[in-house]
Amino acid sequence: MERNRTPLFALGGEFAQPETEAEYLGARLPETLRHARLTFILAVVANLLFVVSDWRFLGQPHFVPAIVSRAVIIACSLAGLVLAQRCRDVRGLVRLCLVWCVPVLPACAVLVSPQTEAALAIIFLLPVILYLVMPLPFRWAVATGVLCSAACLGSYLANATAVTGSRLAIVLALFTANAVLALVLVHLNRLQRLAWAAGRAEQEANRELSEHRGILQALLRAVPAPLVILAYGSGRLIQANDAAWTYFGRTALASPEDFARCFPPGVLDRLVAAAQADEAAAGQECALTLPDGRRREALLATGAAPLRGDKAVLLVVVDITSRKEMEQRLERLANTDPLTGLANRASFFARAAEELLRTRRYRRPLAVLMIDIDHFKRINDTRGHEAGDRALREFADLCREIVREPDVVGRIGGEEFALLLPETPCDNAVALADRLRAAVERLHATDPAGPLTVSIGVSEVRTGEASVEPALARADAALYTAKGSGRNRVELHC
Ligand code: GH3
Ligand code: MG
Ligand code: MG
Repeated sequence: MERNRTPLFALGGEFAQPETEAEYLGARLPETLRHARLTFILAVVANLLFVVSDWRFLGQPHFVPAIVSRAVIIACSLAGLVLAQRCRDVRGLVRLCLVWCVPVLPACAVLVSPQTEAALAIIFLLPVILYLVMPLPFRWAVATGVLCSAACLGSYLANATAVTGSRLAIVLALFTANAVLALVLVHLNRLQRLAWAAGRAEQEANRELSEHRGILQALLRAVPAPLVILAYGSGRLIQANDAAWTYFGRTALASPEDFARCFPPGVLDRLVAAAQADEAAAGQECALTLPDGRRREALLATGAAPLRGDKAVLLVVVDITSRKEMEQRLERLANTDPLTGLANRASFFARAAEELLRTRRYRRPLAVLMIDIDHFKRINDTRGHEAGDRALREFADLCREIVREPDVVGRIGGEEFALLLPETPCDNAVALADRLRAAVERLHATDPAGPLTVSIGVSEVRTGEASVEPALARADAALYTAKGSGRNRVELHC
């Protein structure tokens, strides 16, 4: 990866990029202006106080130049204070400071001309003010600092009686002071800019974070399936998206108890417990009862998510009511004979197998009937196929009327039907078969198109038989006997 080799800072500790530097200076302008005003005030106050100290020169040649220099510094600083109010940018302020320096530095040079220890101290103090107190860019701070040091030192040493050795020491010390101050200024510049850049980066990160939060919130709200976030322990609702409010309604989401009431007992607790145990998002189907009484089929998925140092339980509800209804419709279609609405052949044998298992477990009797409509072909031939269909439907209705709830009626062939009679011994099965036969006969006794009868064979599942087929075969044999014996009869073959 290619690294960006552009240095961050220039030599003076300022940002290397002019745009960044301009941005930094612009951002700090109010603070810089305040700082400049304070500096001017400080210059006025300090020089007023020094006027008192200068009184000791009264009567000496230095007195008048000192008072005049003080007056110049005070006047310039007052002017600087007034003009600083009008500065609108950093360049203006820098210009003002530099203009201020033009009369002030020579005045300072005049003030330090006496060979006193105080003057020497001030010679060393002035660069500190120019480097660290005045709001000047690095190059101007160095220029004014060096200029001030040179002017003051020149003025101080002009009347010096000191030996050459100590003059050189003062020059060297002042040079060193300037160098150190320049280094300190570089360091300060860097530190201030680093702090500003870090603050700006933090602001940017916070802005991005709140932007992301906003996006996430919007996404969460827009998720098309109901999504509910619950507190880890209490199950308290933390948040619900728009779909959840619409789906459950305000009443259900008002309290954890009301919400739990929408689910079958224990289901919600189990899902929350699974999420708490960090189990993979469980998909569970269940029937929901909404506060308005509507019943919905739903697929529930839960998961745990970290939330403010704790965990929250996420519950997604996918409504599968229409899918369930479709499944049930398809199942009905697959198991039902479309003409009569009775169980079709496959479904009859499936339910017969289930029934047989139950019967064997509880050692209960299980009877079977095979029914065939007599001379059905004639109906089709004489009255047409439509009439044949109608007769089949009427027979199916009659079966439904006569059999009990647990009995299973199936259409296993064209005009052939089978009946499964759980908990029914052979005698009762024969009685029921005869009732059915008589009912068919009665139904069609006055039929202008002619009588319609059925023949029925009866049998029962024997102990040890593993399927209903043998019993059905025996019932079929009995049915043949009935046919052979003149039809409209019930025959038993146990
Ligand atoms: P048997 O008394 O010996 O049972 O005589 P049958 O005429 O009833 O018996 P057969 O097996 O000869 O004829 C059965 C007829 O049932 C033939 C077929 O056309 C008719 N059939 C089968 N399925 C349907 C149906 O769904 N609708 C109609 N209308 N007729 C059907
Ligand atoms: Mg037949
Ligand atoms: Mg028949």
